[in-house]
Amino acid sequence: MAKETKYGLTSLKKDFPTDESCLEFVFDNLHSRECSCGGTYSLLKGRKKFQCSKCRFQIAPAAGTIFHKSDTPLTLWFHALWVFSNAKSGISAKEMERQLEVTYKTAWRMLKLIREALGKDFTRLGGDVETDSAYFGGKGDGGEYNVRQSTVMRSKALVIGAVERGGRVRTKVVERNSAVEHGKFLEENVDPLFGTRLMTDSTSVLDNAARGYERFMVNHSRKEWVRGDVHINTMESFWSHVKRSIKGTHKAVSKQHLQGYLDAFAFQWSNSRNDRRRFAVLLGTVLLASRV
Ligand SMILES: [Zn+2]
Repeated sequence: MAKETKYGLTSLKKDFPTDESCLEFVFDNLHSRECSCGGTYSLLKGRKKFQCSKCRFQIAPAAGTIFHKSDTPLTLWFHALWVFSNAKSGISAKEMERQLEVTYKTAWRMLKLIREALGKDFTRLGGDVETDSAYFGGKGDGGEYNVRQSTVMRSKALVIGAVERGGRVRTKVVERNSAVEHGKFLEENVDPLFGTRLMTDSTSVLDNAARGYERFMVNHSRKEWVRGDVHINTMESFWSHVKRSIKGTHKAVSKQHLQGYLDAFAFQWSNSRNDRRRFAVLLGTVLLASRV
């Protein structure tokens, strides 16, 4: 017997065999079957709309979702979401094109829309939260005596991140390593209340930014990496996982698209344990994203 946590292509085809079954799922996630007039909504045969049995009001459930304005059948969209959900090291448009047997342009567009939808989760992190920043991309090194240091740094992208231990990850590509950027990021992504403990290194850029948080520091410059349960090792393993995966799957990612890729990795990281749950979370997030 297959484990409850597994969710293979067979399960997907069984749960969502037709475009109609996908559309029923979308409708039930966003609307109620019961109309306020007392009637009941059902799918109009051969149309992408539901109609009330009494007042005849019509609802097109895919409107406003990432499935809207797309000639791609819903079963293919669900298949793309399933592939995405299972791609633990990320997925390139080329690979999506191959797996779905669609054009490169279609695969690229689907991936872009899925990544954008993932960036729209606004509930803040809490509990034990680690924050840190990292540089991505750029070519070459600083050269002898670091004479090229400033040129190299300019071509790199700076990313601030925060991770709940055993939970979710948030990242943001920012312009500069400033107290303002860190402060804004923390305010948007980490809840200062409800017993949140913010774990950081001793960087002074956070001195103002982390005000209002209960802050716990390790002093990396004094080679202190862990003190009791104070460390930012989770955040650091997220950075190295993403860097390794980008190298392996995408070779390189432009600054412009980096945020979308980071959101995809954050999704994988946050839901790594259970295939079935991860697919359900992805479907739910993608549908909810259409409403904001
Ligand atoms: Zn009605």
